[in-house]
Amino acid sequence: MAIIGIDLGTTNSLAAVWRNGRAELIPNGAGEYLTPSAVSIDEDGTVLVGQAARDRLITHPERTAALFKRDMGTEKQFDLGGRKFTPEELSALVLRKLKEDAEAYLGEPVAEAVVSVPAYFAEAARTATKRAGALAGLTVERLVNEPSAAAVAGRIGEGDEEKTCLVFDFGGGTLDVSLVERFDNVVSVTAVSGDNRLGGRDFDKAIAQGFCEDCGIDWDSLERAQRELLLRQAEQCKIALTNQKNVLMVCALGEGEPASLTLTNEWLIRKGAPLFKRLTAPIRRVLADSGLRAESLDELVMVGGSSRMPSVRGYIAKTLGREPAAGARPDTAIALGAGICGGMKARAEGLRELVLTDVCPFTLGTNVANPADPARPILSPIIERNSVLPSSKMGLYCTSYDNQTNIDVGIYQGENLHCDENTQLGMLHISVPPAPRGRQVIRVRFTYDINGILEVEVLSQEDQRTDKLLLRGSGVSEEEARKRMEELSRLKIAPREQEETKAILAKGGRLYASCVGELRERVLMMLGWFQEQLKSQEPLRIAKAARRASDFFSQVERCMGETGLEGPEDMESWWEEA
Ligand code: ADP
Ligand code: MG
Repeated sequence: MAIIGIDLGTTNSLAAVWRNGRAELIPNGAGEYLTPSAVSIDEDGTVLVGQAARDRLITHPERTAALFKRDMGTEKQFDLGGRKFTPEELSALVLRKLKEDAEAYLGEPVAEAVVSVPAYFAEAARTATKRAGALAGLTVERLVNEPSAAAVAGRIGEGDEEKTCLVFDFGGGTLDVSLVERFDNVVSVTAVSGDNRLGGRDFDKAIAQGFCEDCGIDWDSLERAQRELLLRQAEQCKIALTNQKNVLMVCALGEGEPASLTLTNEWLIRKGAPLFKRLTAPIRRVLADSGLRAESLDELVMVGGSSRMPSVRGYIAKTLGREPAAGARPDTAIALGAGICGGMKARAEGLRELVLTDVCPFTLGTNVANPADPARPILSPIIERNSVLPSSKMGLYCTSYDNQTNIDVGIYQGENLHCDENTQLGMLHISVPPAPRGRQVIRVRFTYDINGILEVEVLSQEDQRTDKLLLRGSGVSEEEARKRMEELSRLKIAPREQEETKAILAKGGRLYASCVGELRERVLMMLGWFQEQLKSQEPLRIAKAARRASDFFSQVERCMGETGLEGPEDMESWWEEA
């Protein structure tokens, strides 16, 4: 059975499937690939999803909801004609529509999907996305980050060199900028930034207001419905300007002659100047965070509907001094990438197994005693924000008073000092034999996988008693979660790479045994450094370290062949880099 990929967007959603050796977009009942992420309840209680609902935003705003993805994972209530819905439930309705369209198109039931989410989505929003899937009758085990999906679709997964790709995702209401690195078969999001108040809608508004300005209409005195109408008109003109030099905007607001104006891209750039300026701030931030210069980027991938605007493409191309990659289609790349991930998950032939890693957007930790205020324990981070996933880290803790026999191990998520200011995810208890304070030590291990499943293990040193807790998005059974966990622990490092690292370690050992003096010391240092890198469990870091160590050992080998004693000429620079 096929596993489909879904781009569950703020403005539009779409689905794709891996079939006959390629990712294929799935049309909806209307033959369109894009289904607006809007839900409306008809007067007779019928749920409308997609374009129909989007159109009703103008006619029936009180029975219609859109842009709910922005509130995913919160308890916010949307009122649709007297019935209340959470963002999760509204998303489930969109997902159900996509599932039904896919089943009709494929002619078979669809039970599972890989859904893309913004890289900055926190635990609650991710869990809510999975639950939305479950509510729609779809198993959503794997979430993929939107920029990773775009990068995969943009063929960043091909070829052998290391690549750093900047993904510029400019949608209807948000701008997300991410750095995606690929090395060998590992694709990682390494930095994210963005502006969640900047999107295509702001250009619609700039056009509508510019139109009013030039036609002598007072925008502020217009009624809500009139504004909505102007905004819709403005959007259509904006889209027309993608392939046309100019477009005539006509709008009839009440009686009299309709107002009209010829729009061009130059006009748009003038009216939207402040918006264009805001496009580059997040780009600067991700580059600065990663210590990269624009020149060192290998690829620029522009996705999201608003990236189709020639003015936006031109502006970004000029800023970065490079053209966007031709391969990625702005409005479909993420869905196609998610479709490819669905294929990978279904273990389709012809798909090279990629390891997709992610950064953890929040800190996970446990409570420790707070001497200053015993009632408010402090959060001790175990897995820190921006750690590369999957990640497994351990902390050591001891008893905080004499003869303490019970230790409560709280599990928290958040960035604040006190535990009560963060989100509690769970609690484990462990008993230890009585002893003076500080004598009994326990080990707490957090393992967080790429699907947002957290496993916490507590071990007491005395009797090796272990207690485990598995926290996961609901909609997945305990057993399933355990099974996935096992699968993933095997996936942490691709087996092929394990073979490679073993070979490198063996070679280093051999070189160490066969040379002397300074060279021997350097081999030892490299071996130590490489083993350190392996401990990090970060696939990207390990892949890079493996390449470096293997090159280094090859050079050592060559040098030994020559003199048997001296190191490679550029040894120092190698070392500095390492
Ligand atoms: P989201 O990721 O927020 O769901 P999309 O990537 O689907 O959004 O982008 C939707 C936005 O793209 C809307 O603001 C829409 O007006 C804009 N858009 C779509 N097609 C074009 C086009 N051809 N030219 C300019 N803007 C476009
Ligand atoms: Mg999007």
